[in-house]
Amino acid sequence: GSADIECDMLVLGGGPGGYSAAFRAADLGLKTVIVERYSTLGGVCLNVGCIPSKALLHVTAVLEETAHLADAGVSFAAPQIDVDKLRAHKEKVVGKLTGGLAGMAKGRKVDIVRGVGTFLDPYHLAVEVTDGNGQDKTGAKKVVKFKQCIIAAGSAAVHLPFIPQDPRIVDSTGALELRFVPKKMLVIGGGIIGLEMATVYSALGARIDVVEMADGLMQGPDRDAVKVWEKLNAQRFERVMLKTKTVAVEAKEDGLWVKFEGEGAPNADDVRYDMILQAAGRAPNGKKIGADQAGVIVDERGFIPVDAQMRTNVPHIFAIGDIVGQPMLAHKAVHEAHVAAEVAAGQKSAFDVQVIPGVAYTHPEVAWVGYTEDQAKKEGRKVETAKFPWAASGRAIANGADYGFTKLIFDAESHRVIGGAIVGPSAGDMIGEVCLAIEMGCDAVDIGKTIHPHPTLGESIGMAAEIAHGSCTDVP
Ligand code: FAD
Repeated sequence: GSADIECDMLVLGGGPGGYSAAFRAADLGLKTVIVERYSTLGGVCLNVGCIPSKALLHVTAVLEETAHLADAGVSFAAPQIDVDKLRAHKEKVVGKLTGGLAGMAKGRKVDIVRGVGTFLDPYHLAVEVTDGNGQDKTGAKKVVKFKQCIIAAGSAAVHLPFIPQDPRIVDSTGALELRFVPKKMLVIGGGIIGLEMATVYSALGARIDVVEMADGLMQGPDRDAVKVWEKLNAQRFERVMLKTKTVAVEAKEDGLWVKFEGEGAPNADDVRYDMILQAAGRAPNGKKIGADQAGVIVDERGFIPVDAQMRTNVPHIFAIGDIVGQPMLAHKAVHEAHVAAEVAAGQKSAFDVQVIPGVAYTHPEVAWVGYTEDQAKKEGRKVETAKFPWAASGRAIANGADYGFTKLIFDAESHRVIGGAIVGPSAGDMIGEVCLAIEMGCDAVDIGKTIHPHPTLGESIGMAAEIAHGSCTDVP
């Protein structure tokens, strides 16, 4: 058929998966086009996810640090928070990054077509052009003809069906807009996104309740790590309702009235809030792109199944990022993006990683990777665990972080490290060493005999390995 634009490689979606795939494809010589509905590249992560949340979490972390300094003889006046300026600061951080991406796309001659893309057939995508802010369709249409395609259309927040439309009810995108700081806020969902936003809003003065269907907050890491976080955050939450569901929300003039059911439900009929954050999970966008017209299989939840080369069932169409499955994390999307682009360019490449790390950028941070003790127990795998308490770390004591710990998990037979968890400031920055150790097949000796700088929080990884080394008598 006739096309307005022709290319070797079409990338649908300009998030961390999409722009990484496009840049790699262009670097490998493919004429590449990105179709993205919004005016900036960066997707959820840069615009309304990882980056703005961390810009706000940094500010709140400094606020909390200064509060602790009173014990060290340094005190400050109560903070004056100008929410408008804070929002502007966050937007400046995002703007620097999205501006940088636009420059990188230009430098590689990657064309960006602004609009909502829908497949017409296995080689054509229709684009309904959107206006400057990317929200509204202008009525104009374009058709892109491609030889190969990478679908990177991401995911969206799940909205519970019984929750009404109201400006006081937001998802993570709305919460990051930081329109106002409520007196009393309900966070639905005790996962990482909900807890990070709870951290921000509580530091700004909101009183917070969390409701979670599971039997604990922050599913993923071992409970010993979560316990450290829980102890330090006991003051942050007014009520944590576990094994509990939100069953009804009524938006009235005097507030949002919420009914709960379950073990943690309060005695009151309903509870009044000034803001509700829906953070009960994210759903893939697989059903919104006309995938069937291209013959691409989408499962009932909206995920697109792929093989280790990131190919869908249609060999010249790949898919990457949140739209292909859990964990929905930017670093996973970027890694998959590189694989897809390399395979498309004729290279031998595969998604073949042992582990994908997870981090809650809360206070304190909780980072984990690979096997947890829980998982090893469930699978009946024999492991050795070495835990270095930060109470024995000079730097942690000096930094007021002696509550943290570093834990390494080793296979009991090979003594190779297969997992790890770190809780404390900068845990997310440090977990990368454990990822590398796992990918390299390191054992306790490899890590323990590596000289780590002293005094640092990072040397706790070496210390944990030394503990394991001491207990592994058959290791030379
Ligand atoms: P997305 O980032 O979702 O990008 C998809 C893009 O495709 C979007 O820009 C969308 O507009 C576009 N698109 C979709 N359909 C169409 C269409 N039909 N036509 C045109 N364009 C289309 N991950 C981390 O690793 N670390 C974190 O700290 C972190 N924090 C987060 C905090 C929050 C509040 C949220 C919500 C998420 C966070 N994530 C974090 C997750 C991370 O944002 C995602 O895993 C990541 O953005 C996925 O990248 P992606 O490229 O697959 O999709």
